[in-house]
Amino acid sequence: MPTYILLMGGPGAGKGTQAEALVQRYGLPQVASGDLFRDNLKRETELGQLAKGFMDRGELVPDDIVVAVVEERFANPREVESGFVLDGFPRTETQAEALFKILGPNRLDLVIDLEVPRDVVVERLLARNREDDNEESINRRLELYESETKPLVDFYRERGLLATVDGYGDEQEVHRRMLAAIGERLDPSPVERS
Ligand code: AMP
Repeated sequence: MPTYILLMGGPGAGKGTQAEALVQRYGLPQVASGDLFRDNLKRETELGQLAKGFMDRGELVPDDIVVAVVEERFANPREVESGFVLDGFPRTETQAEALFKILGPNRLDLVIDLEVPRDVVVERLLARNREDDNEESINRRLELYESETKPLVDFYRERGLLATVDGYGDEQEVHRRMLAAIGERLDPSPVERS
């Protein structure tokens, strides 16, 4: 029985870092939509070029492009069957509905919302030195997170899938909180399932 965990949280909440820690712990594949775009950019694909402008400005890449990239990632049914830790997708309700379609009904086990105060997030993002981490793009990403992505927290809460984890603190500490949330909610645990 594979495990399907989705990691949510605003920009700079630590999703990538925490997803990696979970992946190592549980041996699940990590799928991050931002990484899929950065990979397309590196390979200089048309899709990468298309996404770049949006990414540089801190805008959301349009839903149809995002969904196409994620669908491509899961084109082989075996990629779905292995379970995953998904991060950075979905970011809009349209994407959330697309994900339900890609996975089939009732597949998601748990959605973890990593909560971090806004001033901490801005500090973290500015320290990270990624190409799209300038003050303007950060502000735009925070704005879009509030208006487009945060409503998904309720979307998943209503479906009984949500666990909120305090993302403020050092990596190990947050990781322990994530494991506690997973232990509380998933029976059998991801390790026992695999
Ligand atoms: P991330 O690595 O998750 O911070 O994503 C980097 C950038 O890629 C974001 O600022 C968006 O421009 C774009 N992006 C990644 N995932 C999505 C998504 N699910 N929907 C729209 N845009 C996305």
